[in-house]
Amino acid sequence: MTFLRRGTVYTLAVLACLLATATLLGAQAPAKRRPRASTARPTTAAPASAAAKASAPAATTPAAPTGPAVAVNGIAVETTARALQPGEVVLFHVTTPPDATEVSITAFAHTAPAYRLDDGAWRAIVGVDLDTKPGAHPVTVTASRRGAKQSVTGELTVLAKTFRTRTLKVNPALVEPPPEALERIKRENEKTSGIYRTPQPFVVPAGYVRFIRPVAEPANSAFGTRSVFNGKPGSPHTGADFLSGTGTPIKSPTAGHVRLAQDLYFSGNTVIVDHGLGLFSMFAHLSAFEVREGDIVKEGDVVGLVGATGRATGPHLHWSLRANGARVDPLSLLSVFGSEAAASENLTPLTLR
Ligand SMILES: [Zn+2]
Repeated sequence: MTFLRRGTVYTLAVLACLLATATLLGAQAPAKRRPRASTARPTTAAPASAAAKASAPAATTPAAPTGPAVAVNGIAVETTARALQPGEVVLFHVTTPPDATEVSITAFAHTAPAYRLDDGAWRAIVGVDLDTKPGAHPVTVTASRRGAKQSVTGELTVLAKTFRTRTLKVNPALVEPPPEALERIKRENEKTSGIYRTPQPFVVPAGYVRFIRPVAEPANSAFGTRSVFNGKPGSPHTGADFLSGTGTPIKSPTAGHVRLAQDLYFSGNTVIVDHGLGLFSMFAHLSAFEVREGDIVKEGDVVGLVGATGRATGPHLHWSLRANGARVDPLSLLSVFGSEAAASENLTPLTLR
C-alpha cells in the first residue's frame, strides 16, 4: 500500500508492523547460541506432511530415519516439526520407564521442561531460534528416576533458511524514537527481558495441551523478515501479523499467567502470557485490554482487542512467541500443535547414544 504525506511517498510492501525496529535500540537481542558442533552428523530431519508442505518454507530435507525409536537406558525420543529450520518449534515425545518423575530436554543452550501425558509419555517444546546456525546441534534428554538422573544424547540437524529482506520507506517518526523516549524504551526492555528470564510453572493439568489461533483471520508470513527502513537495516520481525480489524477479540492460544498488560513504546498496548513450559506469547498493538497483570487465563479467554497502538501503520494483531529463549514463528507452533492429531503425527525417531 502507499501513503501520501506532505508530498513524500511512503511505500509499504505489506501491512507493516514496525516492531522489527525494536532491536535498533538493543531490544530483543538474540540469545548467544552454542557454536556448531564439530562432528556434524545428520540424525533427524523434518517430516513432510501435506500440511507442512503447504506452509513450511522450502528446504532440502535429508532422508529421515525410519522405523520405531530405539530406547537407550529405557529412554526413547521422537520429534515432530513443520521444518527443522531457524524460527521453528520442535515437539519432543519422550518415553521413559514408568517410575520417571521429571523429564527435561537441553538443546541450543536452554533446558525445556517436559510434561507428562495420561499414558505416561512426556512432551516438551524446543524452539530453534531465528539466528541458529545450520548444522548438527546436540540434544540431551534427562529423566529423574528414584532420585537419580539419567541422560541420553542425540543431535538435531538444523537446515539453513534465508529470510526475506524488504526495503521500506516509512515516516521517520515511526522508526526513530525521539531522544526523550529512550529512557522509557530501556525501562520497558528491561521489564520484558526480566519476564522472559523467569518462566512460571505450567498452569494447566498435564495430559492434554493444544494451541488455538488467537484470531480467525489469516496471518502473513512476515516472521523473520529483515527490513531496511529508510536505508537503515532494522532487526528481524520476530512475530506473525494477523490481518484482523480493530476490535477483534484476541484469544489466549492456551492457558497461562498474564505477566504483562501495559502500553509499551514500540508495541503499544501489549499483553504477555506465560504459558509455562518456557513458552511465552506476546500480543501487540491492542486497542483495549481484557486482562490485567497477574490474571490466569484458560485456552480461548479473551486477553484484549485488536488495534493499531504503538508503532503500527494499521490495525492488525502481532503475535510473537518465545520457546525456551528462542524466537520462533507462532505459525510453526500452530502447525505442529494445533490439535492432538497434528501433535501425534509425523514422528521422527531421534538416534540416541
Ligand atoms: Zn508484527
